[in-house]
Amino acid sequence: MDIAVIGSNMVDLVSYLSRMPDEGETVEAWDFQMGCGGKGANQAMAAARMGSSVLMLTRVGNDAFAETTRRNFEANGIDTTYVLDTDATSGVAPIFVDDNSRNSIVIAKGANAFLTPADIEDAAEAIAQCSLIVLQLEVNLETVYAAIDFGNRHGIPVLLNPAPATPELDFAQVARCDYFVPNETELALLTGMPVQTLDQVQAAAQTILDHGVKNVIVTMGSRGVLWLSAAGSSFLEGRTVAALDTTGAGDAFIGCFSHCLVETGDVPSALATANAYAADSVTRRGTQTSYATRDAFEKSIA
Ligand code: ADP
Repeated sequence: MDIAVIGSNMVDLVSYLSRMPDEGETVEAWDFQMGCGGKGANQAMAAARMGSSVLMLTRVGNDAFAETTRRNFEANGIDTTYVLDTDATSGVAPIFVDDNSRNSIVIAKGANAFLTPADIEDAAEAIAQCSLIVLQLEVNLETVYAAIDFGNRHGIPVLLNPAPATPELDFAQVARCDYFVPNETELALLTGMPVQTLDQVQAAAQTILDHGVKNVIVTMGSRGVLWLSAAGSSFLEGRTVAALDTTGAGDAFIGCFSHCLVETGDVPSALATANAYAADSVTRRGTQTSYATRDAFEKSIA
Protein backbone atom coordinates (compact mmCIF):
# COMPACT_ATOMS: atom_id res chain seq x y z
CA MET A 1 0.00 0.00 0.00
CA ASP A 2 1.14 3.53 -0.78
CA ILE A 3 -1.13 5.63 1.41
CA ALA A 4 -3.06 5.04 4.64
CA VAL A 5 -6.02 7.37 5.04
CA ILE A 6 -7.21 7.26 8.65
CA GLY A 7 -10.45 9.17 8.97
CA SER A 8 -14.06 9.70 8.10
CA ASN A 9 -16.65 8.58 5.62
CA MET A 10 -20.15 10.02 5.29
CA VAL A 11 -23.07 9.55 2.97
CA ASP A 12 -24.27 12.89 1.60
CA LEU A 13 -28.07 13.12 1.37
CA VAL A 14 -28.70 16.13 -0.82
CA SER A 15 -32.21 17.59 -1.21
CA TYR A 16 -32.75 20.30 -3.83
CA LEU A 17 -35.49 22.75 -2.72
CA SER A 18 -37.00 25.88 -4.24
CA ARG A 19 -36.50 27.51 -0.84
CA MET A 20 -35.33 26.55 2.65
CA PRO A 21 -38.07 25.39 5.07
CA ASP A 22 -39.02 27.71 7.93
CA GLU A 23 -39.18 26.38 11.46
CA GLY A 24 -41.92 23.73 11.71
CA GLU A 25 -42.54 23.81 7.96
CA THR A 26 -42.45 20.92 5.50
CA VAL A 27 -41.14 21.68 2.02
CA GLU A 28 -41.10 19.29 -0.91
CA ALA A 29 -37.75 18.71 -2.61
CA TRP A 30 -37.77 18.82 -6.42
CA ASP A 31 -34.77 16.50 -6.56
CA PHE A 32 -32.68 14.29 -4.29
CA GLN A 33 -29.25 12.74 -4.64
CA MET A 34 -27.22 10.44 -2.48
CA GLY A 35 -23.43 10.45 -2.75
CA CYS A 36 -20.46 9.02 -0.92
CA GLY A 37 -18.44 11.65 0.91
CA GLY A 38 -16.65 12.48 4.14
CA LYS A 39 -13.26 14.13 4.00
CA GLY A 40 -11.25 10.95 4.62
CA ALA A 41 -13.12 8.98 1.97
CA ASN A 42 -12.89 11.86 -0.52
CA GLN A 43 -9.13 12.16 -0.13
CA ALA A 44 -8.71 8.39 -0.43
CA MET A 45 -10.80 8.49 -3.60
CA ALA A 46 -8.77 11.23 -5.27
CA ALA A 47 -5.50 9.42 -4.47
CA ALA A 48 -6.91 6.11 -5.76
CA ARG A 49 -8.23 7.66 -8.99
CA MET A 50 -4.72 9.02 -9.60
CA GLY A 51 -3.38 5.48 -9.24
CA SER A 52 -2.23 5.10 -5.64
CA SER A 53 -2.99 1.94 -3.72
CA VAL A 54 -4.89 3.21 -0.70
CA LEU A 55 -5.72 1.62 2.65
CA MET A 56 -8.74 3.22 4.30
CA LEU A 57 -9.09 2.92 8.07
CA THR A 58 -12.60 4.08 8.91
CA ARG A 59 -15.82 2.98 10.62
CA VAL A 60 -19.22 2.40 9.05
CA GLY A 61 -22.52 1.73 10.87
CA ASN A 62 -25.00 -1.11 10.95
CA ASP A 63 -27.29 0.24 8.24
CA ALA A 64 -27.72 0.29 4.44
CA PHE A 65 -25.26 3.20 4.10
CA ALA A 66 -22.44 0.92 5.26
CA GLU A 67 -22.82 -1.31 2.20
CA THR A 68 -23.05 1.70 -0.12
CA THR A 69 -19.80 3.07 1.29
CA ARG A 70 -17.96 -0.24 1.21
CA ARG A 71 -19.03 -0.92 -2.39
CA ASN A 72 -17.94 2.56 -3.43
CA PHE A 73 -14.45 1.97 -2.00
CA GLU A 74 -14.20 -1.43 -3.66
CA ALA A 75 -15.35 -0.12 -7.04
CA ASN A 76 -12.46 2.33 -6.92
CA GLY A 77 -9.81 -0.17 -5.82
CA ILE A 78 -9.51 1.10 -2.24
CA ASP A 79 -8.55 -1.57 0.30
CA THR A 80 -11.52 -2.18 2.64
CA THR A 81 -9.89 -4.62 5.07
CA TYR A 82 -10.02 -1.85 7.69
CA VAL A 83 -13.45 -0.45 6.90
CA LEU A 84 -14.79 -1.56 10.28
CA ASP A 85 -18.36 -2.40 11.28
CA THR A 86 -19.80 -0.49 14.19
CA ASP A 87 -22.96 -0.91 16.26
CA ALA A 88 -24.11 2.63 15.50
CA THR A 89 -25.49 4.56 12.55
CA SER A 90 -23.21 5.37 9.62
CA GLY A 91 -22.00 8.95 9.29
CA VAL A 92 -24.46 10.97 7.22
CA ALA A 93 -24.66 14.54 5.99
CA PRO A 94 -28.20 15.73 5.18
CA ILE A 95 -27.75 18.74 2.89
CA PHE A 96 -30.33 21.27 1.64
CA VAL A 97 -29.56 23.26 -1.49
CA ASP A 98 -32.01 25.98 -2.56
CA ASP A 99 -32.57 27.52 -6.00
CA ASN A 100 -30.07 30.29 -5.18
CA SER A 101 -27.40 27.63 -4.53
CA ARG A 102 -27.44 28.46 -0.83
CA ASN A 103 -26.93 25.39 1.30
CA SER A 104 -27.35 24.22 4.85
CA ILE A 105 -25.55 21.12 6.02
CA VAL A 106 -26.00 18.88 9.05
CA ILE A 107 -23.28 16.40 9.93
CA ALA A 108 -24.20 13.34 11.99
CA LYS A 109 -20.83 11.68 12.61
CA GLY A 110 -22.32 8.33 13.69
CA ALA A 111 -19.76 5.52 13.45
CA ASN A 112 -16.93 7.99 12.72
CA ALA A 113 -16.97 8.98 16.38
CA PHE A 114 -16.11 5.36 17.27
CA LEU A 115 -12.77 5.19 15.43
CA THR A 116 -10.22 4.74 18.21
CA PRO A 117 -6.45 4.55 18.80
CA ALA A 118 -6.98 0.79 19.34
CA ASP A 119 -8.24 0.51 15.73
CA ILE A 120 -4.92 1.96 14.57
CA GLU A 121 -3.01 -0.62 16.60
CA ASP A 122 -5.18 -3.42 15.16
CA ALA A 123 -4.23 -2.25 11.64
CA ALA A 124 -0.61 -1.55 12.62
CA GLU A 125 1.02 -4.13 10.39
CA ALA A 126 -0.73 -2.85 7.27
CA ILE A 127 -0.31 0.85 8.07
CA ALA A 128 3.39 0.34 8.77
CA GLN A 129 3.85 -0.74 5.11
CA CYS A 130 2.49 2.60 3.82
CA SER A 131 4.63 5.53 2.68
CA LEU A 132 2.29 8.30 3.88
CA ILE A 133 -0.43 8.70 6.51
CA VAL A 134 -3.23 11.15 5.67
CA LEU A 135 -5.47 12.61 8.40
CA GLN A 136 -8.37 15.05 8.82
CA LEU A 137 -10.42 16.16 11.85
CA GLU A 138 -13.78 14.44 11.29
CA VAL A 139 -12.83 11.73 13.81
CA ASN A 140 -11.91 12.17 17.48
CA LEU A 141 -8.76 14.16 18.21
CA GLU A 142 -7.29 11.37 20.35
CA THR A 143 -7.45 9.09 17.28
CA VAL A 144 -5.79 11.74 15.11
CA TYR A 145 -3.04 12.18 17.71
CA ALA A 146 -2.54 8.40 17.95
CA ALA A 147 -2.13 8.29 14.15
CA ILE A 148 0.46 11.08 14.25
CA ASP A 149 2.27 9.17 16.97
CA PHE A 150 2.14 5.97 14.90
CA GLY A 151 3.67 7.77 11.91
CA ASN A 152 6.44 9.26 14.02
CA ARG A 153 7.25 5.92 15.65
CA HIS A 154 7.42 4.10 12.30
CA GLY A 155 9.18 6.84 10.36
CA ILE A 156 6.16 7.37 8.07
CA PRO A 157 5.46 10.98 6.98
CA VAL A 158 2.15 12.38 8.21
CA LEU A 159 -0.11 14.83 6.37
CA LEU A 160 -2.78 16.56 8.47
CA ASN A 161 -5.69 18.45 6.91
CA PRO A 162 -7.16 20.37 9.90
CA ALA A 163 -10.74 20.23 8.61
CA PRO A 164 -13.15 21.06 10.04
CA ALA A 165 -10.94 23.40 12.06
CA THR A 166 -11.29 23.31 15.83
CA PRO A 167 -9.65 25.61 18.39
CA GLU A 168 -9.01 22.48 20.48
CA LEU A 169 -6.32 21.29 18.05
CA ASP A 170 -3.04 20.91 19.99
CA PHE A 171 -0.14 22.60 18.19
CA ALA A 172 2.34 20.33 19.97
CA GLN A 173 0.73 17.54 17.90
CA VAL A 174 0.69 19.61 14.73
CA ALA A 175 4.43 20.13 15.17
CA ARG A 176 4.90 16.36 14.78
CA CYS A 177 3.37 16.37 11.29
CA ASP A 178 5.34 16.61 8.05
CA TYR A 179 2.62 18.36 6.03
CA PHE A 180 -0.05 20.63 7.50
CA VAL A 181 -2.65 21.52 4.85
CA PRO A 182 -5.41 23.97 5.87
CA ASN A 183 -7.54 26.12 3.57
CA GLU A 184 -7.66 29.88 4.22
CA THR A 185 -10.74 29.70 6.45
CA GLU A 186 -9.21 26.98 8.61
CA LEU A 187 -5.94 28.93 8.81
CA ALA A 188 -7.82 32.04 10.00
CA LEU A 189 -9.74 30.07 12.60
CA LEU A 190 -6.67 28.28 13.94
CA THR A 191 -4.44 31.36 14.14
CA GLY A 192 -6.99 34.13 14.79
CA MET A 193 -5.21 36.10 12.05
CA PRO A 194 -6.63 37.75 8.90
CA VAL A 195 -6.18 35.97 5.55
CA GLN A 196 -7.48 38.49 3.00
CA THR A 197 -4.16 39.24 1.30
CA LEU A 198 -1.35 36.89 0.33
CA ASP A 199 0.94 38.66 2.84
CA GLN A 200 -1.59 38.00 5.58
CA VAL A 201 -1.91 34.33 4.62
CA GLN A 202 1.87 34.06 4.64
CA ALA A 203 2.14 35.69 8.09
CA ALA A 204 -0.53 33.38 9.53
CA ALA A 205 1.05 30.27 7.95
CA GLN A 206 4.45 31.33 9.33
CA THR A 207 3.11 31.19 12.90
CA ILE A 208 2.18 27.54 12.29
CA LEU A 209 5.55 26.76 10.72
CA ASP A 210 7.15 28.31 13.82
CA HIS A 211 5.49 25.60 15.94
CA GLY A 212 7.83 23.13 14.20
CA VAL A 213 5.78 21.46 11.45
CA LYS A 214 8.00 20.84 8.39
CA ASN A 215 5.67 22.08 5.63
CA VAL A 216 2.62 24.32 5.72
CA ILE A 217 0.52 24.27 2.55
CA VAL A 218 -2.42 26.68 2.41
CA THR A 219 -5.04 26.07 -0.27
CA MET A 220 -6.56 29.41 -1.28
CA GLY A 221 -9.49 28.48 -3.52
CA SER A 222 -9.31 30.07 -6.97
CA ARG A 223 -6.31 32.12 -5.81
CA GLY A 224 -4.08 29.02 -5.69
CA VAL A 225 -1.69 27.53 -3.11
CA LEU A 226 0.99 28.83 -0.75
CA TRP A 227 3.77 26.54 0.52
CA LEU A 228 6.02 27.38 3.45
CA SER A 229 8.97 25.34 4.71
CA ALA A 230 12.28 26.05 6.43
CA ALA A 231 13.72 26.61 2.94
CA GLY A 232 11.36 29.52 2.25
CA SER A 233 7.98 30.08 0.68
CA SER A 234 6.49 29.79 -2.77
CA PHE A 235 3.11 30.69 -4.22
CA LEU A 236 1.39 28.93 -7.07
CA GLU A 237 -1.43 30.75 -8.85
CA GLY A 238 -4.77 29.01 -9.28
CA ARG A 239 -5.62 27.76 -12.75
CA THR A 240 -8.28 29.68 -14.64
CA VAL A 241 -11.19 27.33 -15.19
CA ALA A 242 -14.97 27.54 -15.59
CA ALA A 243 -15.87 26.64 -12.00
CA LEU A 244 -19.21 24.87 -11.66
CA ASP A 245 -19.07 23.32 -8.17
CA THR A 246 -16.15 23.80 -5.77
CA THR A 247 -17.31 21.34 -3.09
CA GLY A 248 -14.58 18.82 -2.32
CA ALA A 249 -11.85 20.81 -4.10
CA GLY A 250 -9.66 20.74 -1.01
CA ASP A 251 -10.03 16.96 -0.73
CA ALA A 252 -9.19 16.55 -4.44
CA PHE A 253 -6.07 18.64 -3.86
CA ILE A 254 -4.95 16.61 -0.84
CA GLY A 255 -5.63 13.22 -2.43
CA CYS A 256 -3.73 14.13 -5.59
CA PHE A 257 -0.90 15.82 -3.67
CA SER A 258 -0.51 12.70 -1.49
CA HIS A 259 -0.41 10.47 -4.56
CA CYS A 260 2.24 12.59 -6.28
CA LEU A 261 4.31 12.94 -3.14
CA VAL A 262 4.50 9.17 -2.68
CA GLU A 263 5.21 8.66 -6.39
CA THR A 264 7.95 11.27 -6.85
CA GLY A 265 8.89 12.69 -3.42
CA ASP A 266 9.05 16.10 -5.09
CA VAL A 267 6.93 18.73 -3.30
CA PRO A 268 6.95 21.50 -5.95
CA SER A 269 5.80 19.18 -8.74
CA ALA A 270 3.24 17.51 -6.44
CA LEU A 271 1.81 20.96 -5.63
CA ALA A 272 1.59 21.90 -9.31
CA THR A 273 -0.16 18.65 -10.24
CA ALA A 274 -2.58 18.87 -7.29
CA ASN A 275 -3.35 22.52 -8.13
CA ALA A 276 -4.30 21.44 -11.66
CA TYR A 277 -6.18 18.33 -10.49
CA ALA A 278 -8.30 20.29 -7.97
CA ALA A 279 -9.01 22.99 -10.57
CA ASP A 280 -10.17 20.28 -12.99
CA SER A 281 -12.49 18.87 -10.29
CA VAL A 282 -14.36 22.17 -9.85
CA THR A 283 -15.43 22.11 -13.51
CA ARG A 284 -17.76 19.20 -12.72
CA ARG A 285 -20.64 18.83 -10.26
CA GLY A 286 -20.44 16.75 -7.11
CA THR A 287 -17.63 15.76 -4.80
CA GLN A 288 -16.16 12.32 -5.52
CA THR A 289 -17.99 12.26 -8.85
CA SER A 290 -15.90 15.27 -9.94
CA TYR A 291 -12.53 13.55 -9.34
CA ALA A 292 -10.89 12.52 -12.62
CA THR A 293 -9.06 9.27 -13.23
CA ARG A 294 -5.39 9.70 -14.01
CA ASP A 295 -5.98 9.11 -17.73
CA ALA A 296 -8.80 11.63 -17.97
CA PHE A 297 -6.81 14.19 -15.96
CA GLU A 298 -3.72 13.80 -18.12
CA LYS A 299 -5.80 14.24 -21.25
CA SER A 300 -7.44 17.38 -19.77
CA ILE A 301 -4.07 19.10 -19.23
CA ALA A 302 -2.34 17.82 -22.38
P1 ADP B 1 -11.65 23.70 0.23
O1 ADP B 1 -12.42 22.86 -0.72
O2 ADP B 1 -11.09 22.97 1.41
O3 ADP B 1 -12.35 24.99 0.63
P2 ADP B 1 -10.02 25.37 -1.52
O4 ADP B 1 -11.27 26.15 -1.82
O5 ADP B 1 -8.87 26.12 -0.96
O6 ADP B 1 -10.32 24.14 -0.56
O7 ADP B 1 -9.59 24.64 -2.88
C1 ADP B 1 -8.52 23.71 -2.91
C2 ADP B 1 -7.75 23.88 -4.19
O8 ADP B 1 -8.61 23.66 -5.30
C3 ADP B 1 -7.18 25.27 -4.42
O9 ADP B 1 -5.95 25.45 -3.77
C4 ADP B 1 -7.04 25.26 -5.95
O10 ADP B 1 -5.90 24.51 -6.33
C5 ADP B 1 -8.28 24.49 -6.39
N1 ADP B 1 -9.45 25.38 -6.63
C6 ADP B 1 -10.51 25.60 -5.83
N2 ADP B 1 -11.39 26.45 -6.38
C7 ADP B 1 -10.88 26.78 -7.59
C8 ADP B 1 -11.32 27.61 -8.69
N3 ADP B 1 -12.48 28.29 -8.62
N4 ADP B 1 -10.52 27.70 -9.79
C9 ADP B 1 -9.36 27.01 -9.85
N5 ADP B 1 -8.89 26.21 -8.88
C10 ADP B 1 -9.64 26.08 -7.75
